[in-house]
Amino acid sequence: MLYKNDTIAAIATGASNAGIGIIRISGEHALEVADRCFRAKNPNKKIITTPGYHAVYGNVTDGDVVMDEAVCLVMRAPNSYTTEDVVEVQCHGGTIQLRQILKVILKNGARVAEPGEFTKRAYLGGRIDITQAESVMDMICAQNELAARSSAAQLQGALSDKIREIRSFVLENVAYIESALDDPENYSLDGFSEELYQQVEATSSEVLKLLGTAEEGKMIREGIRTVILGKPNAGKSSFLNQLLGEERAIVTEIAGTTRDTLEEEVMVQGIPLKIIDTAGIHETVDIVEKLGVEKAKKSLEDADLVVYIVDGSRVLDQDDAYIMKLLQDRKVIILINKIDVEQVVDKSWITANIIAPMIEISAKTGEGLQEFKEELTKMFFHGKLSFNDQVYITNLRHREALSEADLSLKRVLDSIRAGMPEDFLTIDLMAAYEQLGTILGEQPEDDLANEIFSKFCMGK
Ligand code: GDP
Repeated sequence: MLYKNDTIAAIATGASNAGIGIIRISGEHALEVADRCFRAKNPNKKIITTPGYHAVYGNVTDGDVVMDEAVCLVMRAPNSYTTEDVVEVQCHGGTIQLRQILKVILKNGARVAEPGEFTKRAYLGGRIDITQAESVMDMICAQNELAARSSAAQLQGALSDKIREIRSFVLENVAYIESALDDPENYSLDGFSEELYQQVEATSSEVLKLLGTAEEGKMIREGIRTVILGKPNAGKSSFLNQLLGEERAIVTEIAGTTRDTLEEEVMVQGIPLKIIDTAGIHETVDIVEKLGVEKAKKSLEDADLVVYIVDGSRVLDQDDAYIMKLLQDRKVIILINKIDVEQVVDKSWITANIIAPMIEISAKTGEGLQEFKEELTKMFFHGKLSFNDQVYITNLRHREALSEADLSLKRVLDSIRAGMPEDFLTIDLMAAYEQLGTILGEQPEDDLANEIFSKFCMGK
């Protein structure tokens, strides 16, 4: 069964030692469970008689043993995160300590929550829809400020509103056709096909517009995957160090599937760049001699951007020709480096081979770095990042549903062109309606809901 309203508990705060840690208890008996292992300083106070959004100070106890000092925050159904009765036990945040307190709570009648179960209950309780539930996870897992802002907008319902608007448009047309078929005296289908054609075309372009944001959505979520390429000594590490400089945001070590790779993440004018496999980049420099085509191609495969660094104080050679060949059809920024020393490079040779913006820099003095940043902003997100009214598709499931819906709408257009009868058109219109509905989680199959919530971490 999807929904069990038994009482659940989990540590809601991070898995490292901190000043404060929170254990969340939710469910029909949350207040009783808390009372069994909590003694208020004021002996007249009980959790069960505490009104919602009030806190009680006291001790968490295991029988007669005092486990920790704590504040219990009481929220009553339906005015809580899960829409159920909730108690948040705020105590000291040592991980061992928190686990022991959780054990006591479990001993007193709660069961440990499954990953994502609190948010699942919020969804099943009707407080949030599935896109909002997904945005909670995105927000928790956001790796940069932009991604967090994007998911916050989604949590406010920006995407759901847009999808609802498109769906109601589709449904209105289906309803009209059905009415006309039932009641031809009052509803006419004369000339309706032409009108419908235009409307479906408009709807399809709305869907495509949303789909068009998916690419940017992915970059917001994951950062722009950037590879820095160039011959040995061109100045790749010097450039990276300049870029990281004071802006060094996070250095993440992500365990790759086959080996450990290091990824540097840096925010450039508010745009998250994920510089891929910096360790590997050092090796890929000597493309022709050492590693051959495959490795270089591999690192370029998933790149959103390639920064090609050329040493301006040296003449170009066959290796450069080779790199340029690899860069065909890629998004590239060419940096002519070392402009603080005498220049011998033949830039026209480069421009004859790749079409890409070229900027002169000195990785040593930092000259030209600002121009590089400006170019980057021009290249991505149409030169500006704004969340005022823009909805970004950041989720693969949403992207697939939108693609399916668009295919259905295209089929409606094909059918109208082929002169198919109106009742036939409703089949694909309804299909589009339902596909869009899966984004909102309308009557989602148990499998879908379970899959989404299982990606959450414990305590969420
Ligand atoms: P990589 O092999 O491409 O990573 O190149 P490095 O960043 O290690 O730089 C190679 C050499 O070039 C080092 O001695 C750097 O100090 C020097 N270098 C890098 N950028 C500049 C620059 O803009 N101007 C000058 N004069 N030297 C530079």
